Order: sequence, then C-alpha cells, then structure tokens
Amino acid sequence: MATALDRALIGDEGLIPTSHKGLTYPFGDRSPQPGELLTVMPGIRWWRVPMSGPLKHVNGLILDDGDGALAIDTGTAGERSVEAWRTILDQAMGGQRISRVLCTHMHPDHVGLAGWLCRKFDAPLLMTRTEWLTVRMLAADARDETPGEMVAFWRASGWDEAQLALGAGRGWSHFGKMIARMPLGFTRIQDGQTLKIGGSDWQVVVGSGHSPEHACLLDRDRKVLIAGDQVLPKISSNVSLGVMEPEGDPLGDWLASIAKLKQLPPDLLVLPGHGDPFYGLHARLDALDHEHRDRLDALVEHMADGPKRAVDCFGRLFRRAIGPDVIGMATGEAMAHLRHLEVEGRAVKEIRDGVWWYRRA
Ligand SMILES: [Zn+2]
Repeated sequence: MATALDRALIGDEGLIPTSHKGLTYPFGDRSPQPGELLTVMPGIRWWRVPMSGPLKHVNGLILDDGDGALAIDTGTAGERSVEAWRTILDQAMGGQRISRVLCTHMHPDHVGLAGWLCRKFDAPLLMTRTEWLTVRMLAADARDETPGEMVAFWRASGWDEAQLALGAGRGWSHFGKMIARMPLGFTRIQDGQTLKIGGSDWQVVVGSGHSPEHACLLDRDRKVLIAGDQVLPKISSNVSLGVMEPEGDPLGDWLASIAKLKQLPPDLLVLPGHGDPFYGLHARLDALDHEHRDRLDALVEHMADGPKRAVDCFGRLFRRAIGPDVIGMATGEAMAHLRHLEVEGRAVKEIRDGVWWYRRA
C-alpha cells in the first residue's frame, strides 16, 4: 500500500523505457553503505538517504562549506530518514554543522527534511523560486477529500468508474505528510548564477519538465554536474501533465532542457539524484531525447485508426502492464506526450462528455 502510494506521490521514476548504453560508472559496484559518507572528490561526499518505495533511497550530497557543510537534498520526512541523518551527522560527519541546505527541486524525497535540518542548524534553505513556491503551496493543501478537479482530470484521461472510485478513495494531501514543516523564508537561486561553496564556484543550471524550475549545479573547473533528477542514469525521470497546469507542455520543457544540457561539456562527472555517479552525459541525454521522440511518433501512428484517449496509449508508451499502482503516473506521462503532440500541431484534442480524445491533425 505504502509502496504504490509512495511511488505515485514521490513521482521521480517515469515509466518510459530508456537505454543507458555508453555510460560508465567510476565507482563500479561501490556505493555508500548505511551510515557511510563516500568521498567523490575532495570536498564532495555522497550518501544514500533511505526511503520506502521501489527507488529505496535518494542520493544526498555533503559539500564542504567553510567550517560547515552544505547539504544537497534530504530524503522524505519520516523516522527512517531522520534516523539515517542522525547517524550521518553524529558519526560520519563527527558533529560538523550544516551551514546551508540546498534542494534541487520540490519532490518530497529531495525536500522532505529540509525544514527539519534548517531548524536544527539555524541554516538557510536555498532553492529556485518556483520549486520553493510549489512545495509550500502543495504542502499547505491539507484537504482529506480528493478534489473534483482531480477526478475530472482522470475522467478526461479515460479512467473507468472503478478506476475513478479507486483514485478518489486514496484521499488527498499525502504530499504534505512527507514534508517536514518548511521555513517561512528561503534564499533564491536562479539560472546562470554562480554559487560559492567552499573554495569552488558552482553555476546554477536550471532545467524543467520533471519539475518546474529544477536546479542543477555545475563546477566547470572540476568537471562535475550535480544533476538531481534532471538527468538520471538508468530510470527515466517522470514527466507528467497534471491537473495543476493542464495546458502546460512539460514534455516540451523536458526536451528543451535536454537540448540546453547538451551545451554543457560532455566529459562531466554526473552526480544524479538516484542511481550511481556516471560519465556519458551526452549519450544519456541523446537516449532520453530519442526515446521520447520515438514514443511521440508511435502515438501518431497509433491514431491512424481513430482518436485515442490517454489510457488507450499505455501499450504504445510503456513496456509493462499498467495496474492500479502506477496508473496515475502512466496517465500523467501519456497526457504529457499527447499534449506535446497537440502543441507541435501533430494532434488535435476533442472533448466529448468530459473525455479528451486526440486525433491526428
Ligand atoms: Zn524528482
């Protein structure tokens, strides 16, 4: 139960199959064990914050920051991650203080314990403005009952009555339960800005599509990219159209971000939010780009015999059965692809009895 819900709510892992050919992993099979901080290079330490669900953990980074340390991404709010933090702080860090907290984006596994850490150390929180506002807004929505707009969005996607009842029965405001109370204020970081952390200059590189204003950090001198969920080595990042912005184009944002990141040097060591550090940024970006474009073409082909709803596209998009555990995410991803085809002028949306049907343009 918790697993299915966590997967849907944390929403990092997409369902689009992708190739990770051509990547190399400098740490091989070596990854941080529970309670361990693994040194990536001087001043950069990597650890795994445990969490429930299929992803099992999120990567945390600890960067030397003067006489303290800057923590990047935190894990979800919960006893397990708090315990893991206590162990790291007391033992591996030997009581060193957290001087600043930086969250790459607003998903609960990245931002969940930011408030807890900031209060504990009286440390400022660094985020981009849209990520900050989004997490504050979602965490403040404390309704229990699933809002009608949400049910209408699922209906638009083609969910049947049983699926609608199941979705509505899961209730609302789970997001806030994975987020420790956020501080009232934050320190804004923005695209192109240079952040001094310890002795190093890090350039903020913003991407979008997985979340609205996702921060990556680039150290050009040492050739390191802290990528968060903007570039993951094995799984595809979830890119979903949702009820919050049904006229948005998250897949368009995602493809544009891939093109932007391809302007970065090809030989960076990439430190992702999930999985292992890797080389092969451009190979990975190309693979992600190709997979999505192939899926878009497949959907246009699929429309040859008539209009399709999001639920009719699962078989063309995903190489796995879509059960109740992942239908929310599958729907978001299918909608993102259909919406992008509409934006590109390759498909036309027609609404009949509240259901969105897409036909070839
Ligand atoms: Zn994420």
